[in-house]
Amino acid sequence: MSTPVDLLISNAGYLVTVNGKNEIFENYSIAITNGRISHIGKMAELSGLNATKTFDATNHLICPGLVNSHTHLAMSLLRGWAEGVNLDGFLKRVWAAEGAIMDEATSQLGTELGALEALLGGTTTTMDMYLNPVATHKGAVRVGLRHICGPIFFDFPGLDGLEWQTRIERAYKWPEALASIGGPFIPIYLMPHSTYTDSAEHLTQVAGIAKELNASIHLHVSETLGENEDVQKRYGKTPTQVCRDTHILDRHTIYGHGVHLSDSDRQIVAQSGGAVAHCPGSNLKLGSGIAQFKKMIATGIKVGLGTDGCSSSNDLDMFAVMRMAAHLVAYSGTPADVDLTQIVRAATADGATAVGLGDRIGSIEVGKEADLIAIDLAQPHLTPVHNVLALLVFAAGRADVTDVWVAGDHVISNRASTKIDAQDLITRVNSRIKILDEIK
Ligand SMILES: [Zn+2]
Repeated sequence: MSTPVDLLISNAGYLVTVNGKNEIFENYSIAITNGRISHIGKMAELSGLNATKTFDATNHLICPGLVNSHTHLAMSLLRGWAEGVNLDGFLKRVWAAEGAIMDEATSQLGTELGALEALLGGTTTTMDMYLNPVATHKGAVRVGLRHICGPIFFDFPGLDGLEWQTRIERAYKWPEALASIGGPFIPIYLMPHSTYTDSAEHLTQVAGIAKELNASIHLHVSETLGENEDVQKRYGKTPTQVCRDTHILDRHTIYGHGVHLSDSDRQIVAQSGGAVAHCPGSNLKLGSGIAQFKKMIATGIKVGLGTDGCSSSNDLDMFAVMRMAAHLVAYSGTPADVDLTQIVRAATADGATAVGLGDRIGSIEVGKEADLIAIDLAQPHLTPVHNVLALLVFAAGRADVTDVWVAGDHVISNRASTKIDAQDLITRVNSRIKILDEIK
């Protein structure tokens, strides 16, 4: 008797599992049932399966979808808008543009653009901190992305014009709002912007609500030395000490950046079970500094990789981020310090753990949700294959991704979205951003 499965991805040239043993198999197949990986093995072992759909992965590398653990997708509308500036100059210029355009509809439009770029480039999950999370989530789900977002918090009304009390009310309504939108599973998150835009009192309040909602927390921490100095002046503490003392770190917390963490900060984050999204492209471009990727991991911090928003990093290319992360390890130490397994894990399994989804995604194992990507290996720049992980980190690029599945849903097929018309999206974006001509 044959066993019915929804999808059989057959004969993958390489199957990079990123499982506990970091196994890489040759000529392996995977079956998917109800959005989860149900079988892994050689075709001969899977011959009893009866698949509704099949994907011939000959000459392809199959690996887990990449996890972008810190970004602001709607800022894709501001790609190239703030060049030649540091974080302060960047925020000034970007916040002015956001104030002019980012209503709910435009936040959704920008997120659709970012979500499509992410998926086409092999990213299946993003941690997206942005205004109007209900609108952004609708946009991302429409395009098929696993889109972690949540209510954001600033002391001041901010670009969305919300008073503090309204932010609190919306936070309590967030789980219900999320459930009504649907899409691939994501954890509940609250996202206070940072320790320099949210007071200690407000951070304590957010931590309390997170406890009530059993929510995780995402915020920017120690992105620049200037931020550390400002927070030190205000509280006589590092941003991490503020996070500890306001009970933010009592919750599962993932920092954006963590460039300037002291040894003691790293200890505090590790002991709390916290995570950091390492964003080397954004940090280098804004001259913010170089995060201590290996030291963070050695201290016990869960480290993921992220692009940050397109207004600072200009794209959502996680292959570029993997490569930069590896280059910075060599630059900060020696080439022998580059552990390619560590880099690939940060972009997949460890990134999934960092965002709180380690039990569901990030590796190819039976029972995990099928967030997978296929890379076309039949190309000059990917030939020959002496070292599969070196190929992934140093030679492959996002344009090599041909097919993407999120929870078993074939969202990118042969380099095109199965969900939305890319040309129509581009037209809508170009029409909307014309309004920025007035403030150039
Ligand atoms: Zn950011």
